[in-house]
Amino acid sequence: MLIPFLDLKAPYLELKEELDNAYHRVMNSGWYLLGKELEAFEAEFASYCEAKYCVGVGNGLEALHLILRAMDIGPGDEVIVPAHTYIATWLAVSYAGATPVPVEPDEKTYNIDPTRIEAAITERTKAILPVHLYGQPADMDSINQIAVRYGLKVIEDAAQAHGACYKGRRVGGLGNAAGFSFYPGKNLGAFGDGGAVVTNDAIVAERVKMLRNYGSSVKYHNEIKGLNSRLDEVQAAWLRVKLAKLDEWNNRRRLIARYYIESLQGFSDLTLPYVPEWAEPVWHLFVICHPHRNILQKKLIEVGVATLIHYPIPPHLQSAYADMGFQPGSFMIAEKLANQILSVPIGPHLSDESLHIVISQLRLILN
Ligand SMILES: *Cc1c(COP(=O)(O)O)cnc(C)c1O
Repeated sequence: MLIPFLDLKAPYLELKEELDNAYHRVMNSGWYLLGKELEAFEAEFASYCEAKYCVGVGNGLEALHLILRAMDIGPGDEVIVPAHTYIATWLAVSYAGATPVPVEPDEKTYNIDPTRIEAAITERTKAILPVHLYGQPADMDSINQIAVRYGLKVIEDAAQAHGACYKGRRVGGLGNAAGFSFYPGKNLGAFGDGGAVVTNDAIVAERVKMLRNYGSSVKYHNEIKGLNSRLDEVQAAWLRVKLAKLDEWNNRRRLIARYYIESLQGFSDLTLPYVPEWAEPVWHLFVICHPHRNILQKKLIEVGVATLIHYPIPPHLQSAYADMGFQPGSFMIAEKLANQILSVPIGPHLSDESLHIVISQLRLILN
């Protein structure tokens, strides 16, 4: 393979000295969980997201799950989710004991279509869980207006959108609470699993803090039935080093995205990402759409360009959700996207040379 989809080792090599120092600092401290590094990272990431509180947890799925638990959303409740998303968004709702209620994406932005949300609301609906998919913010004002009208909570799935802006404001503080993932391939990635809850709501922050630590805020006093989901000191220390680079790395992604968009104009079957004027995406993925996606992917592999599909099977057609009784055709727009989307290489360490190769190969194949 000439050009990998994403180089996970490059960020380590770029920041090797600082990351190694952070590692040794933690190892020599003798304190490995719920300590100074986590506290410092939480303060720094909350401030980065322009929000009041951040609570580090084990991963992105648990961040969303713990938010729902903190809001007392559970059995008998419904939560509106995008039909087009990574399955973790739905699983968080399922683990809380609530029911995910899918809504079709907007055909241009690929994010949940706010004009279809009201039709999915019932008297059991407790929250809307929009995803800032591929690093592009969902239409939060429209979603928040509906939520206010029906008395619903809004939970952002910001796992792919660290640093993205909606109308000039950072994602993470745009609803009642947000879940972030620090899975290694995300824009802000740990060296292992990690996640965080970001919120302006002191009660949600306090409850998530208890829930992540056995439901306890004072050692051996358990106020609620919690679980164990903590961001450890080593990951927190590493994330602090990488957070300082995030804007620079996101800007590099923006440059690459702009270059893709400029260079891939004029191919009739190809759909490029659409960016509304109020959105400043962080391009977690650069997703193109083509009716012959599989052929395109195969031809790119033949010339050494790796691509991925995010995601080939929508959650409603996964065996895991067979119990909900959805059929092919239940969510036509989501299914059409799943059949046509293709993610091409993007990342802060994709070189100009590699980018030029991907673009020239794509142009050759599309011509
Ligand atoms: C990665 C991701 C998650 C889950 O995060 P993990 O840290 O892998 O648990 C949730 N939602 C979306 C949209 C994601 O991309």
